[in-house]
Amino acid sequence: NITLENIKKSYSSKNTVIENLNLQIEDGSFTVLVGPSGCGKSTTLRMIAGLEDITSGSLFIGEDNVTNVDASKRGISMVFQNYALYPHMSVRENIEFGLKNNKVKKEDRDRLINEVASTVGLDEYLSRKPSDLSGGQRQRVALARAMVKVPKVFLMDEPLSNLDAKLRNQMRSELIQLHNKLKTTFVYVTHDQVEAMSMADKIVIMNKGEIMQQDSPKQIYTNPKNVFVAQFIGNPA
Ligand code: ATP
Ligand code: MG
Repeated sequence: NITLENIKKSYSSKNTVIENLNLQIEDGSFTVLVGPSGCGKSTTLRMIAGLEDITSGSLFIGEDNVTNVDASKRGISMVFQNYALYPHMSVRENIEFGLKNNKVKKEDRDRLINEVASTVGLDEYLSRKPSDLSGGQRQRVALARAMVKVPKVFLMDEPLSNLDAKLRNQMRSELIQLHNKLKTTFVYVTHDQVEAMSMADKIVIMNKGEIMQQDSPKQIYTNPKNVFVAQFIGNPA
């Protein structure tokens, strides 16, 4: 499990954006962090990834206190909203880039890339350049690049926001299937409650740096804890 204990995050002495954040993310879950713009979703995800200092409190991965552990040593991969691919590199090279810091042997490297490409349906596109791919295919390259590290935890920050509605729907179901297949922990950030409700097995609703409720989609829908949650989910009490 990933455990956030009493986390506080200040960007400066006058800018505390998260306080007293307590959260447990179960191993193998598809956890979705959802909430209005500016509520602290990306900050939370980046702290888990190790890309943002934690002002106070503790972060555990399993039994290990990783609060001050380097991002590269956390066994975590992250996909960003702007998943910039390298335009001059082929799909294969872009995916391989995910392995950059690892000392993986050439043959293992190739096997891994082929496996991952097949998982996300890119087998036939490995030699293409990103410019010759559709938006959805590019998104899959970004996923593949993060997956190739075989992370224990897969963090995604609004990874579908650049796609049109049809492709977004398709990628949602593909991500759900991917989760069922990989059985790794997925932590997914969105500001879209419909997306959260349709993908999560556990939803964490945030507002202004605080957790309003963490529950299954069904619980949240049928038993919203407060007016904010009820209104946010579109089921005013
Ligand atoms: P969105 O849905 O718009 O992406 P979010 O929930 O991901 O929003 P964060 O990006 O985590 O929100 O930001 C939370 C708060 O922290 C906001 O008030 C934001 O202005 C502030 N913030 C984020 N990054 C920084 C930074 N580098 N320096 C100062 N303040 C920041
Ligand atoms: Mg954000």
